[in-house]
Amino acid sequence: MSRKKLSSKIENEIFTKSKRRCCICFALNDDLAVKRGQIAHTDHNAQNDDLDNLAFLCLEHHDQYDSQTSQSKNFTMHEIKEYRDRLYKFFMSGYIPFEDVTILDPLAPLSELPKEQFSSEIMSGFKKNIMEFVISDQIPESGGWSLSQERIFQYNYGSPSSKIDKREGGIISTYMAARALRACGSTLNTYSTPGKAAAGYLLKRRTGRGAFGRFSASRSGEELKPSFRHTALACLTLMALNGPPSAIREGLQYLLTVKTVDLQDDAAPSIARAAILFVMEYATSTTISHKYLSSKEVDTIKNFLAERKREILLAIESEAKSPTNPYAPLWEPYGHNKTMVFDSALTTIDFLTLLDDIPLDTVITALNYLAGMKLDSGLPYDPSSKKPDIGISTYFGVMCRRSLVFKHLQAAENGKSTLKIADDAIEFSFKNWGKAEYMERTYCDTVSNGLLLI
Ligand SMILES: [Zn+2]
Repeated sequence: MSRKKLSSKIENEIFTKSKRRCCICFALNDDLAVKRGQIAHTDHNAQNDDLDNLAFLCLEHHDQYDSQTSQSKNFTMHEIKEYRDRLYKFFMSGYIPFEDVTILDPLAPLSELPKEQFSSEIMSGFKKNIMEFVISDQIPESGGWSLSQERIFQYNYGSPSSKIDKREGGIISTYMAARALRACGSTLNTYSTPGKAAAGYLLKRRTGRGAFGRFSASRSGEELKPSFRHTALACLTLMALNGPPSAIREGLQYLLTVKTVDLQDDAAPSIARAAILFVMEYATSTTISHKYLSSKEVDTIKNFLAERKREILLAIESEAKSPTNPYAPLWEPYGHNKTMVFDSALTTIDFLTLLDDIPLDTVITALNYLAGMKLDSGLPYDPSSKKPDIGISTYFGVMCRRSLVFKHLQAAENGKSTLKIADDAIEFSFKNWGKAEYMERTYCDTVSNGLLLI
């Protein structure tokens, strides 16, 4: 009988379902390594292309299976099918083979993202949950994110949020949501409605001279205050959403007027500093600068970075080391609110690890410190929490897996234990998704980062 070639549709289906793991290796040796292998016909009939008849086997096991001899008790068809089904089920349960996990450049141009990987089933269950969470976390009245912050507002501030806060959400949350949805690039268009609403939300928060801000309660009712941090985040969000280039360009011009002293009153100066550096580097990178800036404007921003980056980085590093900072080697928490210390630290790390030259020592020290706070197999929301939190656990895991950080942790003395805690934390998150006790303080700023994993 001549061997018929499998259609590429069937082949793809088997490769995706098995993730090129051999089900015999898996069932008998707990071996989940990616294997060179072939698709076997379990009934030895090469004409039978029924999915149920096919299984991916490593070369060795395929040989062994196909060269049945009467002398040795060989694998039976039912046995192979049973092993194969177990392997499929294992992947369907949301297991992440960690050697497959890499981190996306959160703002890479869509055309450069490896789209086919988004459909991979490796993370499908977990990511589907996160995506639904993020989408439904948009605030209907404003288009900003995140609705879920209301759940933890009372924990953080000891009082319910104001009507304005409820409507406003946060610009950081909006950035996190937009980049997370963008990281699932193949489906971003489907979400163009939330994307449009988010861009509208940001554009209504421009205050003149290119600055962005957030409305807050004031004696006269509501006030829109310009903020360097919000401007940096709004520019990044608008880039992720393909927003109007003029708003992005003017926002960047406003950022050039920043003085270090301007940031001392910010509720989260370390986040502001790191976000400003990142947006400037990102906007002037060769792949995207032409979309927003003239070559003269690129030069101006590059000059700013050449003159000021060192000083801004030093301010970030010294805050994390300051003897007066009760949370060193982490940063002062957002608004000096001690419950928001991990969230702020991870957001700072997030921006720092996107920079051209990462202050690795500062980042690694902070991550090792956070790893030391683990509770069971995850990380809590803050030092006084009694239970791990899915959002913080996810965010921590993703930060440890950013490629340079990952390499550094792998090579460092105490880095491997931190990486193990990071992987446990991701696993904790997808295994416990939806359990109220672990999701009490999970919101889109933290958990949306799970969408950056592939
Ligand atoms: Zn095998």
